[in-house]
Amino acid sequence: MYANVLVEIGAKSVDREFVYYVPEELKAQIQIGIRVKVNFGKQTIEGFVLSLFENYQDNLNLKPIIDVIDTEPILNEEMLLLGKQIKETTLCSLISAYQAMLPKALKASIHTNINIKKDKYLIINQDDQTIKKYIEHCHYPKQKELLEKIKQNKELKITRIDSAIKTLIKHDLVKIIAKEAYRFQAKEDPHYHEVKLNNDQQKVVDAVKDNIDKPITYLLYGVTGSGKTEVYMEIINYVLTLNKTAIMLVPEISLTPQIVGRFVNRFHNNIAILHSGLSASERYDEYRKIKRGEVKIVIGARSAIFAPLDNLGIIIIDEEHTSTYKQDNHPRYNAKDVAILRSKYHQCPVLLGSATPSLESFAKAGNHVYKLLTLPKRANNKPLPHVNIVDMKQEVKKGHFILSQELQDQIQKRLDRHEQIILLLNRRGYSSMITCRNCGHVIKCPNCDISLTYHKTSDNLRCHYCGYTQKRPHICPECGHEETKDFGLGTERLEEEIKNKFKSRVIRMDLDTTNKKGAHEKIIEDFGNHKYDILLGTQMIAKGLDFPLVTLVGVINADTTLNIPDFRSSEKTFQLLCQVSGRAGRSDNPGEVIIQTYNPEHYSIQYAKNHDYLGFYKEEMQIRKKLGYSPYYYITLVKIYAKDYQLGFEHANKIGNYLRKNVDKTTIILGPTMAPIFKINNIYNYQCIIKYRKDQKLKQTLINLDNIYKTENKINVEIDVNPSRL
Ligand code: ADP
Ligand code: ZN
Repeated sequence: MYANVLVEIGAKSVDREFVYYVPEELKAQIQIGIRVKVNFGKQTIEGFVLSLFENYQDNLNLKPIIDVIDTEPILNEEMLLLGKQIKETTLCSLISAYQAMLPKALKASIHTNINIKKDKYLIINQDDQTIKKYIEHCHYPKQKELLEKIKQNKELKITRIDSAIKTLIKHDLVKIIAKEAYRFQAKEDPHYHEVKLNNDQQKVVDAVKDNIDKPITYLLYGVTGSGKTEVYMEIINYVLTLNKTAIMLVPEISLTPQIVGRFVNRFHNNIAILHSGLSASERYDEYRKIKRGEVKIVIGARSAIFAPLDNLGIIIIDEEHTSTYKQDNHPRYNAKDVAILRSKYHQCPVLLGSATPSLESFAKAGNHVYKLLTLPKRANNKPLPHVNIVDMKQEVKKGHFILSQELQDQIQKRLDRHEQIILLLNRRGYSSMITCRNCGHVIKCPNCDISLTYHKTSDNLRCHYCGYTQKRPHICPECGHEETKDFGLGTERLEEEIKNKFKSRVIRMDLDTTNKKGAHEKIIEDFGNHKYDILLGTQMIAKGLDFPLVTLVGVINADTTLNIPDFRSSEKTFQLLCQVSGRAGRSDNPGEVIIQTYNPEHYSIQYAKNHDYLGFYKEEMQIRKKLGYSPYYYITLVKIYAKDYQLGFEHANKIGNYLRKNVDKTTIILGPTMAPIFKINNIYNYQCIIKYRKDQKLKQTLINLDNIYKTENKINVEIDVNPSRL
């Protein structure tokens, strides 16, 4: 017997398939999709068995498979196929696609201290008669009680071995066994109560139920607070009655403990959670629950799309517009595309949900590629909050640099009424730039083409790209002048301002306050229990939160996302403003939103003010059409990285010319240009943007380009098909 084995060699994840022969003694264990150890050159490495066959001509020089690693395949037929499809569509290596599907614990190249937790249990070690007799004659109540308990429950979990247990073991009446334990347990949402679906919700549920065995992709466009979570749960409930399974993706699970909590209320321990906040060992626990068929529902972020569930009945992707569904590094897959591939395999629907669908998805719904479902109103019939736009150009003249008069007044009002407030500022740190008052010198990262951010809490300057830190200098490194000036407002500064201006309990949520395990959940739980009046933070506070006491949402500076050099910056701004506005007035008290901006007339801000998704969609589509961007054109980004500036420049030009020569005439090649952030971590970043509608040659051209540069050491080329940002 022979096996085709896919191995990974070197850091560049170059795919290599080789034939090995299967020695007699391993024949019983070997299967397709299992991992094996093989010799490659002088090393022993791991690989996946992709196929097995009996006849092979050249069987003299073949090496044997050394060992079989798993007891059962870790990649089933579906996953093996899926990997090939991902390779086809994203131009990644096959090995990297397979590795993306598996938890860290199963990755060959990573040797972490992943362990399986074992709990100790006592079980009976004698026949009933003996036990009965012992209980009758025993004088020690503790021992009797123990035996009774074990008899009743068949087993008893113990954490320590006391003298009573010791005695029972000595007499051979009981023995200790070890059983695998799972560490992580998601918490219920204590504020949740079950509801009866309203008509709109029921219609959506029925539409999906009616075609539950067809691979249809639905786009659920439901305004904030329209009760999408209830719809998801109802559909999943139905799928379970058919004895099928479900995956639900959320953008970043540690930010949405409320949604998870509601699922736990309803489905108890029938759920596995794949959470970036879990340790690798905990993730492995969750993975084993899924693999063993002990749970039917998986909730998780992007990579949970690979959850090895059999018999999928529905795949739900909440907040489908979120860019985190696209992986930013190799393999650059999009979980939405993978979901659709899996739905075809399992013949089940995909449900994409959002209050602000991505332009691509809404356009597909318009072309009937997706089927559109809508929830036009809030579930409790409350209106969407009133949105006020404040022109900061005027406020600055009055000396209000951070909080406008209007926002200050409204905050005070809410504090007086014991209501809660959410403030969004999409920039962390204290100030985003330090400059010299004399010469104007800006303190920049020595490794990156970006200014350093001042963090007051730790009193240092930090690079948000490479992590470089330094002390804040007291004199200008350029001219020696002693005065520096802070520019650009961050969340730390906002927190300080709030503390100075108001007597209130305030909590900040950003990357810096949430790097400890469980910190997100704690902040959200405490805010939900009204331990704080004001929650302020970066975009991580914008999504999914449902707090009845929040009646005011303030956006400190709507322009932070607007100024990002990306064709999606208006869309991102509109989405963020709608999402965060949607946190206000979700219960009995009406909500109010105040958006501070230096661009009050900008269309993305105006449409957000009116909660007018369709208006925004139409205007933005016209702009995309005019400029030739997605969804009218497909986009592929070719990134060129080099340590050497000149060499990078030369190769970027070569690549630009190569592309121009080898694509269809209708395809547009932009660049090469410097990437928006030109230097990161001492690497220079160039890029070419490829815009096309249909191109017969392009794919092969990109594959060729990739092959040329795979072996190149000084230049790195990455191809990003349908990038989430430029
Ligand atoms: P979305 O995800 O669409 O923003 P949620 O699912 O969080 O909305 O629901 C918003 C609020 O409305 C929640 O507090 C939820 O409990 C409530 N809700 C949902 N459906 C109903 C219903 N049919 N009747 C009453 N309240 C509902
Ligand atoms: Zn840096």
